[in-house]
Amino acid sequence: MIAPIERQLAGLRAVTAGWRKAGQTIGVVPTMGALHQGHLSLARAAREKCDRVIVTIFVNPKQFNNPDDLENYPRTEEDDARKLESIGVDLIYVPGPDQIYPDGFATTVTVAGLTDMLCGATRPGHFDGVATVVPKLFLQTSADYAFFGEKDYQQLQVVRRLAADLDIPIEVIGCPTIREEDGLAMSSRNLLLSDRSRIHAPVLAEVMTDMRDALRGGAAMTGIIADATARIQAAGFTDIDYLELRDGTDLSLLPHAKPDARLFAAAWLAGVRLIDNIAV
Ligand code: AMP
Repeated sequence: MIAPIERQLAGLRAVTAGWRKAGQTIGVVPTMGALHQGHLSLARAAREKCDRVIVTIFVNPKQFNNPDDLENYPRTEEDDARKLESIGVDLIYVPGPDQIYPDGFATTVTVAGLTDMLCGATRPGHFDGVATVVPKLFLQTSADYAFFGEKDYQQLQVVRRLAADLDIPIEVIGCPTIREEDGLAMSSRNLLLSDRSRIHAPVLAEVMTDMRDALRGGAAMTGIIADATARIQAAGFTDIDYLELRDGTDLSLLPHAKPDARLFAAAWLAGVRLIDNIAV
């Protein structure tokens, strides 16, 4: 059965109040829609852990630093609802902008430190947008558990930080990155790749995997970065926003591997920005 779609906060609250009264746990999976197997894996994890599951679909204007990116972002609500059918989600919450940012809305949440680097450095305002909408979705849904993908690893760390700092009574659960067969990390943005770009896109993950192996073997970043960059550029990527080894918790820069180290990359392929990260 296709899950009911709720567009109003009042309607959402009426439903969750009933669940709470019955003593049921609630899991939320925040998304921007254009759902793929990555999103569905989060919904499945929520389905396993929680009595009730809400998937939210909101293309959050505040987290887009580029108006064209916001305009071009894929919107596929009917397909999304159909894809969630087999998982048995209880409710799809698709708020209009007025349900999230009503007239007079004036609050911005900023998470310091963790947002200085990586996507925070190359997408000004992006994480303020994320950090402002996510607590709203937590409080609106009154969820006990929230499911986020490691695909957006920095976002996951930012969300963990803000939930702890703001004493929001929710457990943030990170789920592994789901990939295409050729290694490309699934992303709604992959829909924007031309057939030609789609063929070259997996090179990013391929190079990162080779870097991981070299780092595990004791190589330093300074010894492998030039060759890795050249390979990514040879595949047609134009700008590499970052290709860095960092600590998986505080995201500080690392010269070589240590426990909890992760490789992070963001690069542009024919006008589409792809990001990826892997544990070293
Ligand atoms: P988005 O719709 O891109 O905002 O993503 C919504 C959630 O799905 C975020 O928690 C993402 O990290 C997660 N997600 C996106 N792609 C993947 C993937 N390939 N594997 C696992 N989770 C993902």
